[in-house]
Amino acid sequence: PMAAATAASTAIPSATTSATGSANRDSRIHTHSHIKGLGLGSDGMALPISQGFVGQTQAREALGIHLGLLREGRYSGRPLLLVGPPGTGKTALALALSQELGSKVPFCPMVGSEVFSGEVKKTEVLSGGFRRAIGLRIKETKEVYEGEVTELTPAETENPLSGYGKTISHVIVGLKTVKGTKQLRLDPSIYEAIQKERVVVGDVIYIEANTGAVKRVGRSDAYATEFDLEADEYVPLPKGDVHKRKELVQDVTLHDLDMANARPQGGQDIMSVMGQLVKGGRTEVTDKLRREINKVVDRYIEQGVAELVPGVLFIDEASAHVGYGMLHLPQQGARIANVTLYNGGHGVVSPHGIPVDLLDRCMIVRTYPYKLDEVRVVLETRCRVEGTAVSPEALEKLANEGIQSSLRYALQLLTPASIIARLSGRTQIEPQDVGEMNSLFLDAKRSATLLREMQGSAGG
Ligand code: ATP
Repeated sequence: PMAAATAASTAIPSATTSATGSANRDSRIHTHSHIKGLGLGSDGMALPISQGFVGQTQAREALGIHLGLLREGRYSGRPLLLVGPPGTGKTALALALSQELGSKVPFCPMVGSEVFSGEVKKTEVLSGGFRRAIGLRIKETKEVYEGEVTELTPAETENPLSGYGKTISHVIVGLKTVKGTKQLRLDPSIYEAIQKERVVVGDVIYIEANTGAVKRVGRSDAYATEFDLEADEYVPLPKGDVHKRKELVQDVTLHDLDMANARPQGGQDIMSVMGQLVKGGRTEVTDKLRREINKVVDRYIEQGVAELVPGVLFIDEASAHVGYGMLHLPQQGARIANVTLYNGGHGVVSPHGIPVDLLDRCMIVRTYPYKLDEVRVVLETRCRVEGTAVSPEALEKLANEGIQSSLRYALQLLTPASIIARLSGRTQIEPQDVGEMNSLFLDAKRSATLLREMQGSAGG
């Protein structure tokens, strides 16, 4: 019943809009905010409690090995399957892995049910996911004026033009250049670019020598001076002394390129330029557009202008929903199919709802149920992160809930229990608060039992 084919033929209309979908995604990630990494020692062994992770040492070590292979670029494109009971940290493991890979490596979390959103084709959703998970590091060498904006009047406002009067040529920008400080009266075109980039005081900017394009590259608090804004001489951009050849690096995903080219903006900033890879006005991302982009990307890679950064596509709760046939499609082109797939499959659904030949290529990592001590430590960690006080007795009760139902359920009780405690005038969660929550909310097992009972009585 878990076969992907079943999923494909069942078009379940979904009320979920993409907006609520992503809010959902955020809240899913929020519950893992205590997880900062895999918590491995320098020897690759899992430290019992580290970086927010408790226990589950075998899986963490396995992911550590996987991480090493990913970093060396030796494991791309092969799926990794995480298998284990609900709430045993499969999602947490994937997020930890992504944190270890660093912010420059794309991580695209998806939920199996997103693939079901009746509005968009399944393969389309997956393609989008893949392309969000494949990064491209684009290197360009440019002649730039390097400078730090110290004053742009009245630039603290969102729109630097507002309140300043009419003549935009009267704007002064202080540039801390490579050779000292320059006070510039910008010509209108550059001013426009600055305005478009919403440059404010303290921003570090590049002004490209040939085109005058402005790019905001960072912030600096180190330099803030008053400038004489009354001076009315026009000072052209200095030549030479602030001229520098600079390698700019831009990290984008294939999805960014798809979007930029589907809705080209025109302009000089990197995304606009990247939006001109493919000719012609379009409004949507099609397979044809993607193929054209792949071609350009391949060329860039050959020329050494760009480098591929294979990332991670994480499909949570994937077993029942996802058409894994997708993974075989050569549509990404051999060199950009380097994606790792994770599957938060519940328990051992034979065979994980995944075609056997694909399963054969998977590396499978198991997670195990937690012990009482481990659940207790995770709960303590979460309480610290959320700033929730809990009495030792209540903690014990919650930990036992965690063993009886799931760690996730115990964690879910924390916030409402703390609200009840506060409403009752207590400063910390006490056992009665946990008890009250338990009677208000059902864990998965109890709700399933209840449902069975109700069905039983309806039938009889
Ligand atoms: P499901 O199969 O239902 O998707 P899961 O295996 O993906 O569950 P998670 O969502 O990762 O489980 O875990 C549930 C909660 O417990 C999360 O808040 C997670 O951060 C936390 N958690 C799980 N395992 C650990 C652990 N070993 N150490 C610390 N926190 C953990």
